[in-house]
Amino acid sequence: MSDKPSPAQVKSDVRNYLNFLREAGFLYLVPGGGAAAPSPSAHSRADRLEALRQETVRCTKCKLAGGRTHVVFGEGNPNADVMFVGEAPGRDEDLQGRPFVGRAGQLLDALIAEVGLRRGDVFIGNVIKCRPPGNRDPELDEIQTCEPYLLTQIALIQPRVIVALGRFAAHTLSGTTTPITRMRGKFHLYHDVKLMPTFHPAAVLRNPNYRADIVADFRRAVAVIGESAG
Ligand code: URA
Repeated sequence: MSDKPSPAQVKSDVRNYLNFLREAGFLYLVPGGGAAAPSPSAHSRADRLEALRQETVRCTKCKLAGGRTHVVFGEGNPNADVMFVGEAPGRDEDLQGRPFVGRAGQLLDALIAEVGLRRGDVFIGNVIKCRPPGNRDPELDEIQTCEPYLLTQIALIQPRVIVALGRFAAHTLSGTTTPITRMRGKFHLYHDVKLMPTFHPAAVLRNPNYRADIVADFRRAVAVIGESAG
């Protein structure tokens, strides 16, 4: 079976994406150059993020909708400078409707604290908003269907830096398949936003040696906040 979407699917995806952009406050598209957005005030940013959340939790656009308990939109500071993006909700996240609340999430909180931040300072989300059955890797059609939600979250929050947690998020956001061991610790880009790939916190639960690398990568990411906006 081909992974290529049908023309009707592409048309529908483009329509959905343009609707997202309009809701996020984009004024027009620049040919070859992305979209131009007004800088939302802190207040309207929170309101628009909430409107997006309400739309996202009703989503039935892909097959994951049938098996989920909750859509996990993500949570945190709508004005965050640092955004953490994981793979997809696991069992605990699906049950509670919140990102990173299981064992990996508790560890993520501790790692965030170790670099001087609190969970409420940052925004935490996932590439995919619904739990894949049995925690399997998300499939291409699920990623493509869900990505506009993430793009719109980023367009609204306007983080200075995104930390990709683990191989799947790093590959999806960077568009490469370079091994995470080679990607981590170096800045990449996701739609003009600095992207720092690192290991997934769950990796530390299997091998504590990964912890120091994750903390070092978090520190690199947090250092971006101190840089001038350029
Ligand atoms: N792992 C992820 O990648 N995301 C979550 O929200 C929880 C575990």
